[in-house]
Amino acid sequence: MIIINKTRIDNGLLHEIIEFVRPPMISDFQLEVCIGLYCGIATTSNQITIFITPKEPPARSSCYDHSTDKERGYVGTRIQNEFEMLVFVIAHELRHVWQRENYDTNEGWFTNELYCRGNSILDGFSPPARDYDADMYARQQLKRWRTSRRDMK
Ligand SMILES: [Zn+2]
Repeated sequence: MIIINKTRIDNGLLHEIIEFVRPPMISDFQLEVCIGLYCGIATTSNQITIFITPKEPPARSSCYDHSTDKERGYVGTRIQNEFEMLVFVIAHELRHVWQRENYDTNEGWFTNELYCRGNSILDGFSPPARDYDADMYARQQLKRWRTSRRDMK
């Protein structure tokens, strides 16, 4: 696990989020945080890049990356602030690393009628199934994160 942070995000917070949302047994990846517009990319060699804006935007409820387009699979979620954005995006990209480790099983994948994996190894890597699964995982992690924050107060 290699973490490179080129942004204003606090290193402690970044590590905390990664540890929180990291799927079990997943540690062979590099995660880099750069300046850009909020989004994430994961390559097939487990290189993850997360982009965040140069300045923190005012906290407000907004919808992140929701898609009703059947071809894309994104479910999206409603987020309250930048922390939640980071939790969601990092969880989504780390789930893609998990998917590569678990490409030969149907165990644990989020599926529904529209976005199912089928029986081929490659089905797990077609965009709708892959991004539906990653978004469902990210939503689950964000829910856990919110619950744990409430517990700390
Ligand atoms: Zn994705």
